[in-house]
Amino acid sequence: MRLVLVGPPGAGKGTQAQFLAAHFSIPHISTGDIFRANLKSGTELGKQAQTFMDRGELVPDSVTNEMVRDRLTHDDVANGFILDGFPRNVAQAEVLRAILVEKKSPLQAVLEFSAPDAEIIARLLHRAEIEKRVDDKEDVIKRRLEVYADQTAPIITFYRNEGLLISVSAVGNVEDITASAISALSRVAQ
Ligand code: AMP
Repeated sequence: MRLVLVGPPGAGKGTQAQFLAAHFSIPHISTGDIFRANLKSGTELGKQAQTFMDRGELVPDSVTNEMVRDRLTHDDVANGFILDGFPRNVAQAEVLRAILVEKKSPLQAVLEFSAPDAEIIARLLHRAEIEKRVDDKEDVIKRRLEVYADQTAPIITFYRNEGLLISVSAVGNVEDITASAISALSRVAQ
């Protein structure tokens, strides 16, 4: 199963990705997690990403695309993957399509998790208290939502046009959302 998850920050993509990765026995690849791990260990990549992440902006495509291209060469993606947080704009979606065409292993589905803005903001503020992520401060949250609407939401149309889009409501309890995602994905050819 080669899958992309899309949805606003706070829609629960990370949580759902973990359950889906376990269900399909494939790796969960979160570009946000990779950037955070690099920040923590002080790598050059982490330094390049930091100012953008702190402001809630996208890290430049040149950095992000190469990081993903490299990650998709690892052996563990042989049976598929779940990409969480990538692509974040149409240019990244086009790069991903090209990478996968080269590997003769196109995406099979793009799962969109949707939730109303008010619910998203409440969840992000709640997460800020628990996880203490620097980018979960109120002004940065606002910026991340704007960036999502302006730059990321257009990929939904891109993938709908490709016939890959499946939408699932991200409101409700975690287990029910996972179950509807798995049921929607069972209709996708593997
Ligand atoms: P996330 O954990 O997915 O919310 O990502 C946290 C932050 O990492 C984002 O606000 C961006 O600054 C950066 N980031 C993650 N994925 C991408 C991407 N595909 N393109 C650019 N920046 C990204």
